Amino acid sequence: MTTLTRADWEQRARDLKIEGRAFLNGEYTDAVSGETFECISPVDGRLLGKIASCDAADADRAVENARATFNSGVWSRLAPTKRKATMIRFASLLKQHAEELALLETLDMGKPISDSLYIDVPGAAQALSWSGEAIDKIYDEVAATPHDQLGLVTREPVGVVGAIVPWNFPLMMACWKLGPALSTGNSVILKPSEKSPLTAIRIAALAIEAGIPKGVLNVLPGYGHTVGKALGLHNDVDTLVFTGSTKIAKQLMVYAGESNMKRVWLEAGGKSPNIVFADAPDLQAAAESAASAIAFNQGEVCTAGSRLLVERSIKDKFLPMVIEALKAWRPGNPLDPATNVGALVDTQQMNTVLSYIESGHSDGAKLVAGGKRILQETGGTYVEPTIFDGVSNAMKIAQEEIFGPVLSVIAFDSAEEAIQIANDTPYGLAAAVWTQDISKAHLTAKALRAGSVWVNQYDGGDMTAPFGGFKQSGNGRDKSLHAFDKYTELKATWIKL
Ligand code: NAD
Repeated sequence: MTTLTRADWEQRARDLKIEGRAFLNGEYTDAVSGETFECISPVDGRLLGKIASCDAADADRAVENARATFNSGVWSRLAPTKRKATMIRFASLLKQHAEELALLETLDMGKPISDSLYIDVPGAAQALSWSGEAIDKIYDEVAATPHDQLGLVTREPVGVVGAIVPWNFPLMMACWKLGPALSTGNSVILKPSEKSPLTAIRIAALAIEAGIPKGVLNVLPGYGHTVGKALGLHNDVDTLVFTGSTKIAKQLMVYAGESNMKRVWLEAGGKSPNIVFADAPDLQAAAESAASAIAFNQGEVCTAGSRLLVERSIKDKFLPMVIEALKAWRPGNPLDPATNVGALVDTQQMNTVLSYIESGHSDGAKLVAGGKRILQETGGTYVEPTIFDGVSNAMKIAQEEIFGPVLSVIAFDSAEEAIQIANDTPYGLAAAVWTQDISKAHLTAKALRAGSVWVNQYDGGDMTAPFGGFKQSGNGRDKSLHAFDKYTELKATWIKL
């Protein structure tokens, strides 16, 4: 744990200079329109600063610039070993600035400072260095051609990448894209969420310090319906990579169809089932995991274990264990290093979460923990981790992504029924299964329509395995070598010998 106390972080927060301008061609710059929007901290409702409100004019400038930089070859044709070294320096700079970046992240979107410092910043740096490390170890292919032909199968960078990211893990989601996008030689225009632009703006300068040429990484803060839409519809953006809601993911596919058929890769929402069979090897561990799966990051996690499916024969024993485990997750001041649940990102998101709690009540589910806004006197947006029992999978709280700390508990009687309920959602991002029967574990994992399945744990994984969704949770994968598919075009070159 950090040696900095809450008072130290609060002092640093007061001293912090917030950069709110866009980053274009290696320099901070105002939006073309000169417009700004306010960045409000959910920690206490304080104004953090004014942020450049970019729109289509900024997108045009950035794309033109990114294209010219790409065509110049200054980065796109640099030897992979050199790009590797630069990406590793970029990652090191994130780590050197870990405390500053963690503070920006926490003030901007409300997550606990210990999470920002020990999960988000290291995870972001790891995404940059892992992709950089890989880039000079990937080989292209020679096809199995006839004797008088040589067939080369090579990968090329796609060109100009528009990366649109959400607010729940602002820096980490950005770096899941930047790692492979930059390592493969592309020029990138990063659009952070209007709810959490600060770390994206800050790391643009660190990229220059690392030696990434100007024009390769540009950052355009602003709203989705202005600058986000402009990137989506732009005829000279080659690829859009996105993390965010399923609703906006679908919209980006429309933009691509209406413009230049740019490639669109989507990491979208989830409503993940956490299935606990009666023969789970360790019910205490399962209960603690079920609690952290809904309370970590205030439940603002695409893979949140928001549906807890429990075999009916153990439900009366198991549910009190989950309720007890959830008591360890209490919202508190995010700048206190001991806090493990912070503020929801803003008032709008808090009201959304509270309205889902209302809908749980009115649909007849039984509230067994939490359910209220708290710490109102701080000026921040805090909601207690909440559990509803007696939920049917047809209820709104079981079908829709809440993106807050609200857990729905659903009983089942057989493995078949558990799988049917688990898959009965438009989403397919992640799932977990708890059992000590190895066949049941494998058969259930195979039957689950989800991009990640965890057995006897919740939320495992690192850069080595792909991450992404089935169904309306998206397409393509972040992390691992599979992520490189998004950022490269495959070319076949036939040489007559
Ligand atoms: P969101 O879809 O509202 O916004 C995501 C980004 O899209 C933001 O930068 C936003 O400004 C932009 N945007 C909004 N409207 C746009 C438009 N018309 N054109 C272009 N861009 C537009 O999502 P959010 O509320 O920021 O994030 C929460 C969502 O992200 C949840 O659904 C969550 O499940 C999902 N998420 C998914 C993953 C994953 O890897 N699958 C990871 C984290 C979050």
